[in-house]
Amino acid sequence: MLIIGNRLVALLNESGQRHLVRLLETLKLRNAAPTKFARVVRSGRTWLEVVPTAERARLEKEVNRQLARYAHRPQLAHLSDDESVFVDVPLGPGANDSAFRREVQSFGLLRQIADSGELGRVRRCPICGKWFMARRPDAVYCGTRCARKKARQVLKDTGKDAAYKRFRRKRNRIQDRIGQLAEKRNDGVRLTKEENAELTAAKVALAKLHQEYEKRRKG
Ligand SMILES: [Zn+2]
Repeated sequence: MLIIGNRLVALLNESGQRHLVRLLETLKLRNAAPTKFARVVRSGRTWLEVVPTAERARLEKEVNRQLARYAHRPQLAHLSDDESVFVDVPLGPGANDSAFRREVQSFGLLRQIADSGELGRVRRCPICGKWFMARRPDAVYCGTRCARKKARQVLKDTGKDAAYKRFRRKRNRIQDRIGQLAEKRNDGVRLTKEENAELTAAKVALAKLHQEYEKRRKG
């Protein structure tokens, strides 16, 4: 299945496979949608049965709607010998179009994987957006390159958080002091020479703090 899966993801990563990508995404949503237990009465007996939730039923309907694109009918192939060989001829739009034939071929691979119950292994990397076949059940990224990239991002983001907290602590301390002095002055109390100097210095320090933080954040 890995070989078929790798062929499928290679085709999915080609541009112009939007229909198939959409089908795959809808299928994944459907598989993730919950089921529920319902009481059913059959032949006079009552029991609990697993039934789809409304959300799951809606997605199933949507998958079936998309599948109509790959409708086909069997046709006798033109062969010179006496053997009867049937081929599947697509009925969908642009059946004679080479791009569509390629899409139908990709759908055939998707179908094999779905039938084998391994569709969950066909995943999309959240970092580079490429489709890949997961070798391990817990694989999230397409490879070590993207996993490392994510790890670096997390490190950078938490670093930014820490820097913001430091900035906020310093800013609050300065703002509190400015507030105290300004309040005193508003109450008609004359500030001492030292206090006036401190107020000016605090305002300068605050502006500088903002400037430094912004510079760091952008860099
Ligand atoms: Zn990736």
